[in-house]
Amino acid sequence: MIELQHIKKRYTEQDEAVIKDVTVSITPGEFFVMVGPSGSGKSTILRMIAGLESITGGELLIDGERMNDLPPKSRHLSMVFQNYALYPNMTVSENIVFGLKSRKVDRATQFQRLSDALTMVDLTDFSSRYPRELSGGQRQRVALARSIVSGADIILMDEPLSNLDAQLRESMRYEIKALQRKLGITVIYVTHDQTEAMTMGDRVMILNDGIVQQIGTPIQLYQVPENTFVAKFF
Ligand code: ADP
Ligand code: MG
Repeated sequence: MIELQHIKKRYTEQDEAVIKDVTVSITPGEFFVMVGPSGSGKSTILRMIAGLESITGGELLIDGERMNDLPPKSRHLSMVFQNYALYPNMTVSENIVFGLKSRKVDRATQFQRLSDALTMVDLTDFSSRYPRELSGGQRQRVALARSIVSGADIILMDEPLSNLDAQLRESMRYEIKALQRKLGITVIYVTHDQTEAMTMGDRVMILNDGIVQQIGTPIQLYQVPENTFVAKFF
């Protein structure tokens, strides 16, 4: 369980808070989407959960343990970025296992996890290629595989499909969702795309100006919007 309790973020003393007072509990195995317009604070919240950004108010708990001041690598989660962040001079396989090397995983386990991950993202035939020899969708799948091999129970994704063309975006939606189900992991997924939110989320949190507008299943948000912002957004 990931619990955000009255989370706030202020980047500088002078400026007002960009995240005002966010409280939500995310359950294990859930596909949780945070959606909202650009600048609404989605990435800030995700980066606070990841430990890449300090939390300036409230509490972040994972499985009951306070995470506020723990470094990213102690949080048992993994993050997939919008720009994939692959190493250009490493092959697909090298990129994928890179995350494992620093975690002292033995070679047999490394090989097994790599092989499983390649199969899952359908890149077995591409294992010795370099990122520049791959399409955008393939690169994004490498980034996903790298997250999967880390063995993290929680994967955070920040607009992972926004650099892909429309057709690929649609097929990747299903792939990511299928993978999440299969692995039984918790995904916190950030997007500004309403369709992605509504088709992928078990629950969706709508954010505007750092304030939660509503949290609910896609059907609840669509049928019973709590305010005009939510109604108009979808
Ligand atoms: P989103 O991901 O929803 O587009 P962000 O979390 O990136 O929103 O940004 C939320 C607000 O915080 C914006 O007003 C943005 O300008 C501000 N912001 C983001 N990062 C920083 C930063 N490093 N320093 C100061 N302000 C920032
Ligand atoms: Mg963002």
